[in-house]
Amino acid sequence: MGTRKKVQAFVRVRPTDDFAHEMIKYGEDNKSIDIHLKKDTRRGVVNNQQTDWSFKLDGVLHNASQDLVYETVAKDAVSQALDGYNGTIMCYGQTGAGKTYTMTGATENYKHRGILPRALQQVFRMIEERPTHAITVRVSYLEIYNENLFDLLSTLPYVGPSVTPMTIVENPQGIFIKGLSVHLTSQEEDAFSLLFEGETNRIIASHTMNKNSSRSHCIFTIYMEAHSRTLSDEKYITSKINLVDLAGSERLSKTGSEGRVLKEATYINKSLSFLEQAIIALGDQNRDHVPFRQSKLTHALKDSLGGNCNMVLVTNIYGEAAQLDETLSSLRFASRMKLVTTEPAINEKYDAERMVKNLEKELALLKQELAIHDSLSNRTLVNYDPMDEIQIAEINSQVRRYLEGTLDEIDIINLRQIQEVFNQFRVVLSQQEQEVESALRRKYTLIDKNDFAAISAVQKVGLMDIEGNLVGEPDGQSFGLGVAPFSVKPGKKPKTKKTPKDQFSSSARKEGASSPVSGKDFDVASISKTQLIPSSKDGDLKDMLARERETSSIEPLISDSPKEELRAPRPSTPPSRTVAFEEFKNERGSEINRIFKENKSILNERKKRASETTQRINAIKQEIDETKDALNFQKSLREKQGEYENKGLMIIDEEEFLLILKLKDLKKQYRNEYQELRDLRAEIQYCQRLVDQCRHRLLMEFDIWYNESFMIPEDVQVALKLGSSIRPGMVPISRIVCLGEDDQDRFSHLQQTVLPEGLDSITFYNAKVKTDQKAYGSIRRAWWRAACIINALNLRRTGVDQGYDKPIRP
Ligand code: ADP
Ligand code: MG
Repeated sequence: MGTRKKVQAFVRVRPTDDFAHEMIKYGEDNKSIDIHLKKDTRRGVVNNQQTDWSFKLDGVLHNASQDLVYETVAKDAVSQALDGYNGTIMCYGQTGAGKTYTMTGATENYKHRGILPRALQQVFRMIEERPTHAITVRVSYLEIYNENLFDLLSTLPYVGPSVTPMTIVENPQGIFIKGLSVHLTSQEEDAFSLLFEGETNRIIASHTMNKNSSRSHCIFTIYMEAHSRTLSDEKYITSKINLVDLAGSERLSKTGSEGRVLKEATYINKSLSFLEQAIIALGDQNRDHVPFRQSKLTHALKDSLGGNCNMVLVTNIYGEAAQLDETLSSLRFASRMKLVTTEPAINEKYDAERMVKNLEKELALLKQELAIHDSLSNRTLVNYDPMDEIQIAEINSQVRRYLEGTLDEIDIINLRQIQEVFNQFRVVLSQQEQEVESALRRKYTLIDKNDFAAISAVQKVGLMDIEGNLVGEPDGQSFGLGVAPFSVKPGKKPKTKKTPKDQFSSSARKEGASSPVSGKDFDVASISKTQLIPSSKDGDLKDMLARERETSSIEPLISDSPKEELRAPRPSTPPSRTVAFEEFKNERGSEINRIFKENKSILNERKKRASETTQRINAIKQEIDETKDALNFQKSLREKQGEYENKGLMIIDEEEFLLILKLKDLKKQYRNEYQELRDLRAEIQYCQRLVDQCRHRLLMEFDIWYNESFMIPEDVQVALKLGSSIRPGMVPISRIVCLGEDDQDRFSHLQQTVLPEGLDSITFYNAKVKTDQKAYGSIRRAWWRAACIINALNLRRTGVDQGYDKPIRP
C-alpha cells in the first residue's frame, strides 16, 4: 500500500498463419517487441524515414491461451480488488485484433471464455475462502456509443424505465453514473447471466439501433464491499474493478467514410485521443491537471485511470504485415501507458451506524464505571448528563451571588459543572463590562484619540490644551501620558507636598468655590485609547463628581500598619495618569526628575552648540568653494596670457598667491571646526543615553507608585508584603488592568505572580470581597475572584485541598 507502481502493459497478438516474421520480432525475455519496416524505395535516394522501433512492455502474449492470458493479465488485479484496491483492465487495439475475444471471450465455448467471466469466478471463489467477511458483489454494464451512455442491463425486468438520460456525477467517494443500474449478485451464476444479458443486448442493439459494436466502448464493473464478520469494527473496505473493452482504434477518417460511419469515427477518434491525452497527462509528473472531462469515456473512468488503482492494459495487435501501420500506433499507445504510475491504496470507509453503536456501548460502560467509582468514594449520585437550561440558570445565579459575596463558595460537582461555572463567569463579566461602559457613556462623551477633528473641537472649547499630550517637557518630547497636567494650571500650588489621595479626597469632601478642583481645572481622564470629556457644564460636573464620591465612597480598611492609618481613603476612580504623573514628579519622583531635567538641559546645550558649529562649518565650506572658483579663474587667465617659467618654477601673480594662502587657512579652520563637531556629537550621544535612562527610570518608578497608590487593592499589597519579597509595585500594572481582556494566558500568569501563597490567600480575598460591594470596581474584582477560584479548583483537582478554609493569616 502506498508504493508507486507502473501501469502494466501487455501485447496480445492475434494468431495468424501469415505472421510477419521479418517485421515483428520479440525480445528473448518476451517483454519487448521490435518492428522493422522495409524501406520505401518510392521515396527517392535520400530516405530518412524511420524504419525500426523497439517497444519495452511487461509481456508479449503470442499464441497464448485464454487461461494464460487471464493468469498473466488479470489474476493479481482481481485478487487485490478483494483486498480493497480498485483495478482497471483495458483492451485496446484495432477492430478485429481480439479485444472482445480477450475481454469477454467466446460466450459459446467455456474453454475460450475471456477475462470477464473468469474474473467473476475468481471473485466468488475468493469470497468462499473468506468466511470472516461479509462481502457483497454488485455489477453494472455501461456502453458508450457516440458520446451517449447506454445501460446494457436496463432490459432486466426489475429495472424501472429510466426517465432521464444517464449522467456522470462526481462525489467525494468517486465517480458515479446516475441512472446506470447496479445489480446485486450473490452467486457466480447470477453474475454470468447478467454478463450474457449485457452481451446479448450489445448484439441486439447493433441490429435494431444500427450500432456497430466495434465502435463503442464497454465497461463492465464489479463492485465489492467487505465488512468484517468477526470484529465489531466500524471500518469496511470497498473496491471496484473495471473491465473495459474499447472501441476499435483504427483511424477511420482515412478510409474516406461518410455519414454515420464518419460520425462514429469522429467520436471514437476523439474519445480515444482524449484517453491518450489523459494518459499522457497522467504520465507527466509535472502536470497536475488531467483532462478527464473532455469525453464520456475518460470522465467515466476518472477514478479508475492512474490514481490509486491497479491498472493493466492489453494491446491487441494483428500479426500480419498489412496491419503494421495500426500495429505501430497501438504499440505507441501501449508504451505511453507504461509511463503512467499509480499509487494503489486500500479504500477504507467507516460504517457510521456501526460507529455510533460502538460509541454508545462505550459511553454506557464508562457511565457505569463512573457510578461505581462514585459509590466507592461515597459520593452521592452525581448526574453526568448535559445540563439543561434550568441547571445553567442556577449556575449563573450562583456565580452572581458569589461575585456579590452572598455565596461563600461554589461546590464542585463534576467537570461539566466546572466548565459551566467558568462559562457563566464570562457571561456575567461581559454583562458588567457593558454596564460599566454604558454608565460611562451616560456621564461622559467618549472621544477616540485618533479622531483629530473631535479633539480639536474640544480644544477650542478649552477642555484640552493645544498639544493634548503635554507632560511638561521643554522640547515637547512627551511620554504620551495624556493631557494637560494638573499642577501647571493657574491657581494650583504644585510645591505643597500633598499626596494625590489627599487631593482627591479633598475634592470629594469640599464643594463649591473653595474646592481646589474647579470645573475648569478638572482634568480629562484618559481611559485606554479613548478620552473622557465631561458632557455636562462646569457646575453640573462638580455636582456629578460630588455625587459620585458619595455613592461610591468605601469604608476605609482597618489596617495594622500605622502608616496606612494616616492614609486617606482612595478615590473611587483613579486619577488620570497625566495628573498623577505631575504629582509624582513633585513627590517621590522629585530627585530623579531633577536629574532628568539637568541631563536634559546639558543635552540641549550640546545640541545647540553642535548646531552652531554646523552653521560655521557650512559658512567655511561656502567660502572655500568661492576661493576655489576665484583661483580657477586666475589660473585660466594665466593660461590664456601665456605662462612664465623660471628654471622650472611657475611664476604667479600676487593675487593668485593670496588666494592660495586664504584657501590653506580656510581648510585649517574647517578641520578644526569639524573636529569640534565630532566631539560634540559624541557628547550628545552620551547625554542622550543618560536622558533616555532617566526617562525610563522616571516612568518605571511612576508606574510602581501609581499602581501602589491607586490600582492594586491595598489588602493585596499587604498580602504581597507578608512573607514575600515582592513589592506590590513590582506587579506590572498591565497584568492587572489587562485582565479585562479575557486572556487566559495572562490570567494563569496572574495566579502564579499574584497569589504565591496559594489557598491561604483565597479566603483572604473572599473576606475582602464581602466588605467591598461597589458597582464599578466589580470587573477587576470578578477577575480576582475568578483567579482565586481557579487556584482552588486546580488545587482541589490535584488533591491539595487542605487549608482551603483556614482563617486569614495575620
Ligand atoms: P475486436 O473486439 O478487437 O474487434 P474480436 O475479439 O471480435 O476483435 O475478434 C475478432 C475475431 O477474431 C473473432 O472472431 C475472434 O474470435 C477472433 N479472435 C481474436 N483473437 C483471437 C485469439 N487470440 N484466438 C482465437 N481467435 C481470436
Ligand atoms: Mg470487439
